Amino acid sequence: MIKNDCYEVYIEDIGNDGEGIGHIKDRQNGRSFALFVKDTLIGDRALVRIVKVKKTYAYGRVEQIIEPSPFRVQAVCDKARSCGGCSLMHMSYEKQLEYKWNKVKSCLERIGGISGADALMEPPCGMETPYFYRNKMQLPVGRDRDGRIVIGFYAGRTHSIVDLDKCHIGHSINDYIIKYMRKWLEEFDNGTIAYDEESHRGLVRHILTRVGFRTGELMVCLVINGDRLKQTSSDALVGMLGEAVSKYNSSNNPEREIILKSVCININKEKTNKILGNRCEVVWGRGYIQDYIGDVLFNISPMSFYQVNPVQTKAIYDKAIEYAELKGGETVWDMYCGIGTISLCLAAKAGKVFGVEVVPQAIEDARENARINKIENAKFYCGKAEEVVPRFYQEADGSEEKHPNVIVVDPPRKGCEKVLLDTIGAMAPDRVVYVSCDPATLARDIKILSEHGYKLENAAVFDAFCQGTHVETVAKLLRSASVKIV
Ligand code: SAH
Repeated sequence: MIKNDCYEVYIEDIGNDGEGIGHIKDRQNGRSFALFVKDTLIGDRALVRIVKVKKTYAYGRVEQIIEPSPFRVQAVCDKARSCGGCSLMHMSYEKQLEYKWNKVKSCLERIGGISGADALMEPPCGMETPYFYRNKMQLPVGRDRDGRIVIGFYAGRTHSIVDLDKCHIGHSINDYIIKYMRKWLEEFDNGTIAYDEESHRGLVRHILTRVGFRTGELMVCLVINGDRLKQTSSDALVGMLGEAVSKYNSSNNPEREIILKSVCININKEKTNKILGNRCEVVWGRGYIQDYIGDVLFNISPMSFYQVNPVQTKAIYDKAIEYAELKGGETVWDMYCGIGTISLCLAAKAGKVFGVEVVPQAIEDARENARINKIENAKFYCGKAEEVVPRFYQEADGSEEKHPNVIVVDPPRKGCEKVLLDTIGAMAPDRVVYVSCDPATLARDIKILSEHGYKLENAAVFDAFCQGTHVETVAKLLRSASVKIV
C-alpha cells in the first residue's frame, strides 16, 4: 500500500478519538489493513486517500462520502467538527448507545475471554436529554491570529483554541459566563491579560466553572499565570459574574436558579500542559460549592475530582449499590474512592466502609464529607491502593477488614495493578463491583480476577459522556463457592 493511493472502504467501527475504522485489502499483496479515517461514521461508504502506512494499519483522509451512513444526523453544535469535545455528535444518539454497548461487549469477549458476554449485559443506560449535562467546564483563554481574545475549547489533539459562545454539553449558565468573562477580559486587556502558551506570558490561562445541579451553586475559578488579580479587576470580575448569573436567572426558563457561591483563583505559573496549579485562593465567597448525590451532601473545591455528569453518576452509583447487594451489616472496601462519593453513598446501607485514595486532598475532602453528613462508619486511607491494601492485608488482625463482604473498585483508565487484584483475590469478598471508565482494562482485570475464582455475573453500560466516545461500565463479579479463603 502506498501513500496517496485511494481505496473505497466501509466504516465498521469508531476508534477512541471518534475516527472511523474500516478494513481494506492491499492491492499489491492482498494483506488486510485496518484503516483509520477522521470525519467518518459507522455505516459510511467512503473513498479514502491513504496518508500514512504502518505495518498492519493505515491512516486515510476522506476524499468523498460515496454513501452516507444511515446513522448520520446534523450535529446540534456548528463547532462539533473542529472542537475535540463531541466527536460523536454526528451520530444518532441511539447509535451512539449501541456503539458504546458493543464496545464493552467486544472487550469482555476479546480481552476478558467471556464468550456470550452479551447475555450478561443490561441494555445501555443513556440520557433522556443527552445535552447540557456537564457540571464542570475548563475553558482555555488565548488569542486568535488577529490578536482577539478567544475563550473556548482545544481543537481535537491540538492546542489551538476554538472560540465558543455556546457549548451544548455544559450547563447553560456557561454561555453567560463566557459572554461576561469575554467582556471582563476585554475591559482589562493591557496586552497581557490572556495567556500565550508559546511565550509563557499573559495572565489568564483557563476559566474553570462548576455547578451543583441539585443546589444551583456556582463556582468560577480563574487559572492564572501570576500570584494575584489586581483589586480593581477582581472587584469587576465578581460584579461581571454576578451580572451573568442574574441575566441567566431572568432568562426564558432556567431549569434551576443559579447562585454564585465561590470565585477563586488557581495559581499555575509553570510552563506545562497541566491545567491546574497546586494552590487556590478565594477571591469572593467560599472556597467550595456543595451538591448532593442521592441524599449525601458533598463539598466540592476547584481541585477535587467529582464526576462530571450528575444524572448518570447517580445512575452508576445506584447500580453499584444494587450490585453490592447490601443488607446492613457488611464490611465494604471502596478502592480509588476520590472524595468518598461511592463510599459515603454505600455507608448508610453497610456496616463499615473503608475507602482508599492516592490524592491526600481528596482524602481530606472525603473525611470532611463524612463529617458534614454525620456518617461515622466510613474510614479513609491515603495512598496507592496497590500499596496500602496489600500492606493492610498482611498487617491487620481484624478478619472482617481483611475479608470484607464486598469490594468496590473505581480505578482511572489504566485499571488496577495486578498486585491489587491478587490481594483482592486473597481478601476473597463474596462480590466485587467494578466501576470502570475503560472497557479494555476492565476486561483485562476481570480475566485476572477470574484466576482467583471470580465470574462476571452482570454488567451495565452507562453513557456519562454523551456525544463523546468514553463509556462507563459497572460490573458485578461473584466468587464461586468452591474457592477457599486462605
Ligand atoms: N470513586 C470516585 C473516584 C473515581 S476516579 C468517584 O466516583 O468520584 C479514580 C480515582 O482514583 C481518582 O480520585 C484518583 O486520584 C485515584 N487514583 C489514581 N490512582 C490511584 C492509585 N494507584 N491508588 C489509589 N487511588 C488512585
